[in-house]
Amino acid sequence: MTNKLGNLVLDRWVEGDGDGTTLASAVNGTPVARITSEGLDFAGMLQHARNIGGSNLRRMTFHERGDMLKSLAKYLMERKEEIYALSTETGATRSDSWVDIDGGISTLFVFSSKGRREMPNDHVYLDGPPEMLSRNGTFVGQHIYTPKLGAAVHINAFNFPCWGMLEKLGPTLMAGVPAIVKPASSTAYLAELMVRQINASGLLPDGALQLVCGGVGDLFDYLNCQDTIAFTGSKSTAEFLQQHPRVIGESVAFTAETDSLNASILGPDAVPGTPEFDLFIKEVVREMTSKAGQKCTAIRRIIAPAAVAADLTAALGNALGDVRIGNPANRDVDMGALASQGQRDEVRDRVRELSQQADVVFGGSDDFDVVDADVDRGAFFMPTLLHCDKPLNSSLVHSVEAFGPVSTVLPYDGLDEAIELARLGEGSLACSIVTNDNAVARELILGTAAYHGRMLVINRHCAAESTGHGSPLPHLVHGGPGRAGGGEEMGGVRGIKHYMQRTAIQGDPQTITAIGNRWTHGADEIDPGVHPFRKTFEQLAIGDTLRSEPREVTLDDIEHFAEFTGDKFYAHTDEEAAAKNPFFEGRVAHGYLIVSLAAGLFVEPAFGPVLANYGVDDLRFLTPLNHGDTMAVRLTCKQKTLRGDSGYGEVRWDAEVTNQDDEVVASYDVLTMVATDEHWASVQ
Ligand code: NAP
Repeated sequence: MTNKLGNLVLDRWVEGDGDGTTLASAVNGTPVARITSEGLDFAGMLQHARNIGGSNLRRMTFHERGDMLKSLAKYLMERKEEIYALSTETGATRSDSWVDIDGGISTLFVFSSKGRREMPNDHVYLDGPPEMLSRNGTFVGQHIYTPKLGAAVHINAFNFPCWGMLEKLGPTLMAGVPAIVKPASSTAYLAELMVRQINASGLLPDGALQLVCGGVGDLFDYLNCQDTIAFTGSKSTAEFLQQHPRVIGESVAFTAETDSLNASILGPDAVPGTPEFDLFIKEVVREMTSKAGQKCTAIRRIIAPAAVAADLTAALGNALGDVRIGNPANRDVDMGALASQGQRDEVRDRVRELSQQADVVFGGSDDFDVVDADVDRGAFFMPTLLHCDKPLNSSLVHSVEAFGPVSTVLPYDGLDEAIELARLGEGSLACSIVTNDNAVARELILGTAAYHGRMLVINRHCAAESTGHGSPLPHLVHGGPGRAGGGEEMGGVRGIKHYMQRTAIQGDPQTITAIGNRWTHGADEIDPGVHPFRKTFEQLAIGDTLRSEPREVTLDDIEHFAEFTGDKFYAHTDEEAAAKNPFFEGRVAHGYLIVSLAAGLFVEPAFGPVLANYGVDDLRFLTPLNHGDTMAVRLTCKQKTLRGDSGYGEVRWDAEVTNQDDEVVASYDVLTMVATDEHWASVQ
């Protein structure tokens, strides 16, 4: 008898009760593993995640969690061949597995890097600037994000057992939330192997990750308002789970990524003979055949101008005829098997359903050759192209998802009709447009974007570097409205926020500063005792403030700056012309002169712990500075971000330039890198 898959429960590997269900190889039908989660203590798993995993993760800062993800990604990368070897059993070719395995691991790298670059080395994430809520500035508001205090339950689809798990795990762990992962049964053996590697790495704290191979038992009965469900699968399962009394009663956050009748639209300009026509053929064939079409983002509807539909169908048929189907371990094979024989039967049924309103113009037969495999034992399916004559009057082509290498050509007359057809999908994950006419691209995007989570415009200029129609990227959102589930995942830091609670906090600026570790206008200004540039990263306190001496800005200064830099814009050089400008009364100082003079006022020139200025943020010139005016600067240590063991940290300074009447002339953040105690001691 084959082995039972392990369940990772309370940080121990346990087998479920009973014999379980046998999982078969997609390639030859032989048993790969048995699966059961009978008898697991689901209530205990949730408690363990909340009490142990959550507490452990929340002790870490965003950057520490980012470092952890990076180490994990490296660890998995070194061991990926073991996963690749097993992945073949799911029917995946090497390039299918690359999307699943390397693609999955790379999402961890991206979340690690985005989290460390765009989030603070802290436990709280500030959402936007403070809101001034009172006349005198003593009462302000700030939106913050903190990790939810529950568990994230991930329910994944069968098609990408690794990527599907890691694209959810990355943002969850970055947020500081523990996960309970439930892979789809048919390919759970691959997810289990990867979780075994993750667990063996020892890189995650106790309780951060648990695994259920099989059903989720009574787990939903113990959910509470701090838990999150991230679901990928069919619309019907999502609807069923969303109606669980506990999900409704406790308002459990539920993200659903479901089926999708994704479209690709060929622009009217992309006639045969243009590079775009050829790109379209390539894109459609790739989307139909990679992962044997078992991609939630695959092109199911080919929306093409009626005038070229016949040429297009012929070209697609030719290209599909060249696709070699067979044993995915054989490097000559272009397309492997579906994930199971059950899945193959399901796709067959769906094609039959589609055939009520569309004609099969390529494939659709059970009689085809396979390379290095037995067609009767594996879950092979021939790429199948359909053509629907009257797509506006045919509901099935817009609603029946054949989750395999199946797509339907839908001819259109005019862009309005193309838009209407795309919308008939009633909400999709992805839509691509292949055109070299940017006016067409804009019209189609504005007409259909509200129905899609991601849209891609392909033309001859970007095709070579394009990541393709079907690739969700960790930097961009994945999800879609309506039928696609209405959820959203990934999208960089956006994806991390789904596992956190946004809270509006209100109070005195000093309180808001203390909570967010970012100095807020109106909070205390601390006298640093010495020039703040003489302090190391550790010595600097948020609120340390330098107020400069005033300095007059003379006409000579302005003329000198104009001459020296070559910036002789009339507002600085021509009194009469400047006075005609509605904003000025005469010649004014250059904004960049003000910023440069400000630096001259606040900089401490001697060798010190401030290593470099790497930019300014949010620079605004608010009041013109006339010659004869005086200016002074306030520079306040606003936010500190330690950069791991690099020997320095980033220090953001709040800079405000005022004139003799205390009016704000310019405001901006100065960004510097400041040495740590250790580094500073080593270089003196
Ligand atoms: P499914 O039957 O809905 O299964 C999806 C997941 O839900 C599996 O892990 C499944 O576990 C689990 N599940 C099913 N019933 C459950 C229940 N009563 N309680 C808890 N969990 C339950 O979908 P599928 O047919 O396997 O997957 C294919 C579908 O997923 C396609 O329609 C495809 O479009 C969609 N998909 C969407 C995305 C996306 O990102 N939007 C990505 C991939 C796939 P078991 O396997 O153990 O039943």
